[in-house]
Amino acid sequence: MKVIQIDPQYEGFANSYLIVDESTGEGALIDPGCYLENAQAAVRDSAAALKYILLTHGHFDHILGAHSAKELTGAKIVIHPEDEKCLSSEYYSLLTTYPTEGCELIPEKADILVNDGDEIKLGETAIRVMHTPGHTPGGVCYIIESGRVIFSGDTLFHSTAGRTDNIGGDFEKLCSSLKKLIALDGDYTVFPGHNIPTTLERERTRNFIIRRLK
Ligand SMILES: [Zn+2]
Ligand SMILES: [Zn+2]
Repeated sequence: MKVIQIDPQYEGFANSYLIVDESTGEGALIDPGCYLENAQAAVRDSAAALKYILLTHGHFDHILGAHSAKELTGAKIVIHPEDEKCLSSEYYSLLTTYPTEGCELIPEKADILVNDGDEIKLGETAIRVMHTPGHTPGGVCYIIESGRVIFSGDTLFHSTAGRTDNIGGDFEKLCSSLKKLIALDGDYTVFPGHNIPTTLERERTRNFIIRRLK
């Protein structure tokens, strides 16, 4: 299993990641805030057959590229049921709150709705879903045990965590979600929705919000 980070093409947009199961060549794209030249080139260069578009939550900076990624590759859109409405709503996806020039939401529907504990098979790579609400009601982390990696969306960042002052945000729930994450055994590489990668062990001891959890 290989992880390729795709830098956001618009300032402030989410990090996107391409996961490739090397034994079968199947790929999954995480959080395509846009699906423009660099994301398309990353998929092309990897020669992966894109199976899934895995969305950690429904904010526009993570989902606006889902429509064209699906149209161009036939991959299936995966999201938690509580954030599905974001796929067709500029209000719930926060595009109304943060109007962004050149960006519009082309309404989409989920192909696969995932809940806590579900497992997605990407070739021989198992991707586990952990429901981590708080930043949004339907936020999830995608965990790959075989590679010891977590895609944490806007739940957990290097040194901090996602904000909870937008529509549907809930600080208490975010704290519970962070507790669930740090309760995982051992260490993981954490690929967050924004900023640089980190490790779970580093965040257990040095994260500004985790250190204050009761
Ligand atoms: Zn974000
Ligand atoms: Zn967000």
